[in-house]
Amino acid sequence: MLALSLDMGGTHIGCGVVRDDELLGSASLDSELARSLESLLPCIAEMLRTLLKDNGVTAEDCYGIAAGFPGIVDVRNGRILSTLKKYEDAIHLDLGQWAIEQFGLSLRMENDARMALLGEQYAGSVRGVQDVVMITLGTGIGGSAMMLGKLVRGAHAQAACLGGHMPVNYLGHKCTCGNVGCAEAEASGWSLPRIVRETRGFKKSSLANVARIDFRALFTAARNGDAVANTVRLHCLKVWAASAVALVHAYDPEVVVFGGGVMQSADDILPFVEEHVEKHVWTSWGTPRVCAAALGGNAALLGAVPLLSEDLRSQ
Ligand SMILES: [Zn+2]
Repeated sequence: MLALSLDMGGTHIGCGVVRDDELLGSASLDSELARSLESLLPCIAEMLRTLLKDNGVTAEDCYGIAAGFPGIVDVRNGRILSTLKKYEDAIHLDLGQWAIEQFGLSLRMENDARMALLGEQYAGSVRGVQDVVMITLGTGIGGSAMMLGKLVRGAHAQAACLGGHMPVNYLGHKCTCGNVGCAEAEASGWSLPRIVRETRGFKKSSLANVARIDFRALFTAARNGDAVANTVRLHCLKVWAASAVALVHAYDPEVVVFGGGVMQSADDILPFVEEHVEKHVWTSWGTPRVCAAALGGNAALLGAVPLLSEDLRSQ
């Protein structure tokens, strides 16, 4: 099956052409400063057209368009139900109509973290695994779960995809979602600069001179022996490991997959999480495997074919 794929992330929008489990071509659009999703649609359409042309295929050859969106999405009705500080206008856009007008194709939308899990389960590190959860570490923290080979969606399309908003500290920081002490508020890309600045000794830290405090800067400073960076690094590892335990207790998976841009530092993250999970989970059968996503930033794009193939009538 040939398909077009979109991954609307926090800082960029990925566009791709996929054939089954193969990404034929992809391109990325910077969306960090975009006013709205609507303002980006002409660029997205142009990018998809270029990708089709470069790969010698046409829209008529494609089965449809799959799109991952960072919010609560009802795939059954093709509607975005709720957004959180990103692409707020998307709720009022008729993206299905846009896809038909631009490409003559139907569009199927899903939460981006669920798309990433579909991609990893179809073409990545957990090919064929039926019971698996995924945590995506990036600007925010995404979550998704699959049980008995089916994505967990729930009564209102929000089951398992709010993994970043599971509280890990009831005395913690206020989150953008309204809750307190969410994993995202305690250890994500958007909350990291505040966490670092609030850590004792920050003014003497090498991070005080860094223009953009992100996880790459944090892990680099920690490796260079910066005390503040090491304190924050350990804090974040504990938050992510606690989230993994929570998902294991909730969904009983065989494997916990960690994905997202932060996993460029997988060697720093996985051993800690593995040890924490082994020590703290209550299971009756053994310990779930903890692994890194294999598809990197392309996981959600490769979720296109399984999403478009899914029979939603049974959902
Ligand atoms: Zn939250």
